[in-house]
Amino acid sequence: KSGFISIIGRPNVGKSTFMNKVLGQKVAIMSDKPQTTRNKVQGVYTTDDSQMIFIDTPGIHKPKHQLGEHMMKVARNTLRETEVILFIVNVSEEIGRGDEFIIDMLKNTKTPIILVLNKIDLVHPDELIKQIEVYKDKLSFSDIVPISALQGNNIDKLLEVIGGYL
Ligand code: GDP
Ligand code: MG
Repeated sequence: KSGFISIIGRPNVGKSTFMNKVLGQKVAIMSDKPQTTRNKVQGVYTTDDSQMIFIDTPGIHKPKHQLGEHMMKVARNTLRETEVILFIVNVSEEIGRGDEFIIDMLKNTKTPIILVLNKIDLVHPDELIKQIEVYKDKLSFSDIVPISALQGNNIDKLLEVIGGYL
């Protein structure tokens, strides 16, 4: 099993923390240099039977007026060309404009979208359930996985779910 995974989410939701937790010391590629291709490889997670290539989707959290036609196209193409999209949100905050912007962009995308509710260590289980309802109302997700990237909760489960789409 092998494939590309787009990671999207507004700033500070925990994308980097998640990547660090997944890759740990086993970082195969962790480059700050822009790649020759339009997307930045965040890292490659390899197990005996799988390889997951995580891709950063540039510009996707920017407000529409800041995004040129070209950038919009690049972002859309990235989303289309990966096997899975990981949409990471901060479950301890109300859904915001940045999240809504991404959700708009994800509408009509055929690629499976996994909603990752991060920072569950900061919320009461009742609040988590409420948030799930809020997001479900906005878009149809292939899967919804609550995690704490910081504490490492449910990361294994998320990797298993991702594996199911590769
Ligand atoms: P990014 O901008 O999406 O890459 O977000 P970062 O990974 O840089 O995280 C932003 C902040 O949120 C940092 O201070 C992290 O330590 C914190 N953070 C990330 N994940 C979690 C989590 O699961 N729980 C808590 N409590 N904080 C988190
Ligand atoms: Mg980051």
